[in-house]
Amino acid sequence: MGEVVCKFGGTSLADAGQLQKVARIIDQNAQRRFIVPSAPGKRTSDDTKVTDLLYLCHEMARQKMDFREPFENIRTRYGNLVQELGVDMKIGDLLDEVQERISLGASQDYVASRGEFLCGKLLSALLEATFVDPVEAIRFRSDGRLDPVSYTLLEERLSGPGQFVIPGFYGATPDGEIKTFSRGGSDITGAIVARAVRAAVYENWTDVSGMLMADPRMVPNAMPVEEITYREMRELAYMGAAVFHDEAMFPAMEADIPIHIKNTNRPEDPGTRIVPRRDLNDKQWIVGVAGRPDFTMVYIEKALMNQERGFGRKVLEIVESHGISYEHTPSGIDTMSVIISDEELDGKGDLLLEDMKRILEPDRVELYPGLALTATVGEGMSHRIGVAAQVFSALAEAGVNVRVIDQGASEINIIVGVEEADLQPALQAIYQAFVP
Ligand code: ASP
Repeated sequence: MGEVVCKFGGTSLADAGQLQKVARIIDQNAQRRFIVPSAPGKRTSDDTKVTDLLYLCHEMARQKMDFREPFENIRTRYGNLVQELGVDMKIGDLLDEVQERISLGASQDYVASRGEFLCGKLLSALLEATFVDPVEAIRFRSDGRLDPVSYTLLEERLSGPGQFVIPGFYGATPDGEIKTFSRGGSDITGAIVARAVRAAVYENWTDVSGMLMADPRMVPNAMPVEEITYREMRELAYMGAAVFHDEAMFPAMEADIPIHIKNTNRPEDPGTRIVPRRDLNDKQWIVGVAGRPDFTMVYIEKALMNQERGFGRKVLEIVESHGISYEHTPSGIDTMSVIISDEELDGKGDLLLEDMKRILEPDRVELYPGLALTATVGEGMSHRIGVAAQVFSALAEAGVNVRVIDQGASEINIIVGVEEADLQPALQAIYQAFVP
C-alpha cells in the first residue's frame, strides 16, 4: 500500500483523550505520514468549537470590546491539552502572539486560522513530526481560487522521511496574507495534500462510521455504505447527505485518489470508501436515497410552447434576472416548470410570476410551494431496465403522489418531487424497495 494522508476533524481533536486516539491510529500504520488536523471541536453537544471562539474574539476586537474572556477559554483549552498530553512546547508564547495580533486588528482569516495552526503545532510536537505551515505551500490566486502551484510547493515541502503535520483550513494570498477556505475547509486541505503527494488513499477521520444509505432520522436502521463512487457521492451530497466538505472531493477525484471516511472513535468499523469506480453487481444498483424539503415549483403552461423558439431561454433569463439559481426544469409539450429552492427564491416568487406573465404571455403560470425532492442514486441503474419502475411502484404502494420527475441523461439519479408531508414515507418506501 502507498502513502496515506489522514485528516482529523474537530471532534477527533477535542480533548487529550481524543488526541491520544489520533496518535494511536497514526502509529498503527507507518504509511500514515501526512497528517492534516482541524481545530479542536466540541467536547460535548453544548460546547463551543475553538474556531467559533476565534471568530468571536475577532468580532469583539473589531467592535473595540474586551475579548479576554473568550480568549481565556481558548488558552485554557490548549493549555490543558499540552499539560494532559505531557507535550514539551511553549504554547503560552504562541497564544500571547495570537492575542496581541487580535488586539492589533489582525484579519478575520488570520484569527480563524490560528485554531488549526496551534493544533498542528501541538500535534507535531506530540508525534515528533515535521510541522509545515500551509502559508508556505497553499496559495490562492487573486480570484480566490487555489493556485495549482500549491501542488508543486506542497510536494517539495512534504518530501523527505518521517511524518508531516500540515494544518487544515488555510493558505496564503499572492501577497502572503493568510486566507481560509470556507467553513469545514480542512477537508479541502486534506484532499489537496493527498493530490500533491499522490497518496494511495485520503483518510478522512471523523465521528461517524461513514455514510448510511439514507438519513437515519428518515429511515431508521439504514444500512451503511461501504463503497460509493465520486459521482454517486456528489449526487447524494447535493441532496444533503454530506459527510464532508462539498469541494473536498475534487482534488482527490482529479487524481483518482480514493477517499476513506473513518470513525476515530470506532477505527475498527469499515467506514465508507469513495472511489473512482465500483464493481456493479445486481445487489448494488442503488447506493442511497436522500431528500430535502423546501422547494417551490414554478409551473408554466402555454399552448404550442413547443413551437416557440427561445421560450426556455426566456424563462431562464427571467429567473436569472432575479439573481436566482434553479435546480431542475422538467418540461412537457405545452408546459415547463422550474424548481427552485426556497432559500434561493427568498420571497421573490410574486415578482417572478409578474415578469413571467408580462414577458412570456402564458396561458397559466403558478407557484407551487411545499415541494420536497427525493434522489435515488446509483451507477448500477444505468442501462438497467426496471429501476425507475421499482421506485414508482414503491411510491404508489405507499400512497405517495408523485408531483414531478426528473432523470438526467447520466442515469445515475432519479429525482422525484413529492409533497413535503410525503417526504419521509417516500424515502422509506424507496429504501425498502431496494434494501429488503
Ligand atoms: N475549523 C474550521 C471550521 O470550524 C475548519 C474545519 O474544521 O475544517 O470550520
